[in-house]
Amino acid sequence: MTNGIPYATALEQYEPKAERPLPDQEMSGEELRRAYHPDHYADSIVELNVGTNKGDACHRQLADILQADARIDEADLAGAPIVETDVLVIGGGGAGCAAALTASRGGASVILATKLRIGDSNTVMAEGGIQASIEKDDTPQMHYDDTLKGGHQNVNKDLVAKLVMNGPDVVRWLIQQGMQFDLDKYGDLLTRRAGGTSADRIVYYRDYTGLEMMRVLQEAVRTSRIDVWDYSPAVELLSDELGHCAGAVISSLEDNRYKLIKAKSVIIATGGIGRLHLNKFPTSNHFGATGDGLVLAYRLGARLQDVDSFQYHPSGLAYPQHLAGTLITEAVRSAGAYLLNGNGDRFIEELQPRDQVAAAILRECAEGRGVTVDGGGQGIWLDTPGVELREPGIFDARFPKLIELGKKSNIDPRKQPLLIYPTLHYQNGGVVIDENCQSSVPGLYCVGEVCGGIHGRNRLMGNALLEIIAFGRIAGNHAMETAPSHKHKKSSIEHLSQLRRELTLANMPMDKQGPALFPSYAKFENDSDYGGLHKTTQVES
Ligand SMILES: Cc1cc2nc3c(=O)[nH]c(=O)nc-3n(C[C@H](O)[C@H](O)[C@H](O)COP(=O)(O)OP(=O)(O)OC[C@H]3O[C@@H](n4cnc5c(N)ncnc54)[C@H](O)[C@@H]3O)c2cc1C
Repeated sequence: MTNGIPYATALEQYEPKAERPLPDQEMSGEELRRAYHPDHYADSIVELNVGTNKGDACHRQLADILQADARIDEADLAGAPIVETDVLVIGGGGAGCAAALTASRGGASVILATKLRIGDSNTVMAEGGIQASIEKDDTPQMHYDDTLKGGHQNVNKDLVAKLVMNGPDVVRWLIQQGMQFDLDKYGDLLTRRAGGTSADRIVYYRDYTGLEMMRVLQEAVRTSRIDVWDYSPAVELLSDELGHCAGAVISSLEDNRYKLIKAKSVIIATGGIGRLHLNKFPTSNHFGATGDGLVLAYRLGARLQDVDSFQYHPSGLAYPQHLAGTLITEAVRSAGAYLLNGNGDRFIEELQPRDQVAAAILRECAEGRGVTVDGGGQGIWLDTPGVELREPGIFDARFPKLIELGKKSNIDPRKQPLLIYPTLHYQNGGVVIDENCQSSVPGLYCVGEVCGGIHGRNRLMGNALLEIIAFGRIAGNHAMETAPSHKHKKSSIEHLSQLRRELTLANMPMDKQGPALFPSYAKFENDSDYGGLHKTTQVES
């Protein structure tokens, strides 16, 4: 990597301007992606050696955990308490809560087991908003076309059709749950535009949309009949005599015991993978985003897709270093913030799809036009003072979370540009699902970020929050309806024998165990007396 311009020098040269022209672009979006996007890094992709996707391309670090040994064997489960339920939901973010609420309101008995506390999730951190075609000059067809284009046409069109058709109803449902949105002076929902889209379609609450969404979902779950198990990561699924999903093994962080939950239907809603820090990138994700759901589902034979494709959000904070990776919402660019290299020049149209913008930033840094920070790290400017110049007061009114981030960083974004660099943000691929969120394993549903197919190889801002509620409700409803037909004669972890046989035959190292549960830098030997985690040889991050 070449040197860039030192932070202090670049800052001295910077001056806020309301308007800045964009020079002609020398590279097409596709050329940029191929040359600079981390999905194309030569040494990051390997072929899977075992399992349903054997032979498929996969990110090396994800392949490590998909092909790791299990954390448990039969002896660990001797004497473990057993409970039974109609529907087990694994994961207490937005998708899990929406699914659990729908199944419970439909009359099913529901257990929601989550790794830490309900709401510790990527959902709670979401900032920018939710896409739904509610404006007069917008249609679900336009939303559909934008999503296909954003995902480079590599999407499951049936799922996208369902996603966009559900948009307005999802917003209505959230309002019925008590969620607040920003409104204009007539009380109508305000909208703003996401990168790579053709209409103003994002509804939002300040830059705290996910927090507000999670507030109402959490309250609804806590006051329902749902049995919530906090501090209860799932470490394995249970299978029945036919290999169908029949529940899960929970490793309780509260009393260090394994517990078995036998369930007629199981819904995995465990979110993404950012804390594996693929390609050593910083991440915007919450602490528990370690790809566990992919591992659990894959072991039972669920098919995955696009596990070599991840989203690196263009605007992760790069300075100060202790906050590296923290997300700055795309809505700031949507409000007109330019991206400037260390020379103060624009280099990309800021609202192009995220993969293209991230690749352009990486190019600027690789070619020496980035801004370098003492002690390591580099980035380019997010020209927030230019926005304030054009629209005084906009940050106070619409971006309170960014103002708070500025206080933590000792930088006032209204006066000084923020240094940004791409941050590992979203898992584009995941478990293959049908329109009812069923995986290829009977009895096993998957929903939310753990799934693939909806966003192709590049997600548009606002489509993930829409997905988790739209498909969360669909998954909850279908899992509840089919539960009585899932009659499991026995529940065990016998499928692990097959896993271990395959790993041995493929000469795979057996020294790693998964799912990871926590990032490799979680120091449980010092910070916690949770014995279960001591057994893990953590995967590389
Ligand atoms: C900073 C940030 C900003 C974002 N902004 C937006 C936005 O503006 N608009 C948009 O559409 N999208 C946005 N996204 C993406 C979006 O928020 C997520 O994709 C979405 O909320 C994921 O929801 P989920 O329910 O699938 O996963 P999560 O919300 O991450 O929930 C997963 C849950 O599963 C739990 N879990 C994980 N493993 C286990 C296990 N082994 N056992 C039990 N529980 C487990 C986790 O602890 C967590 O509670 C943003 C993401 C981030 C990180």
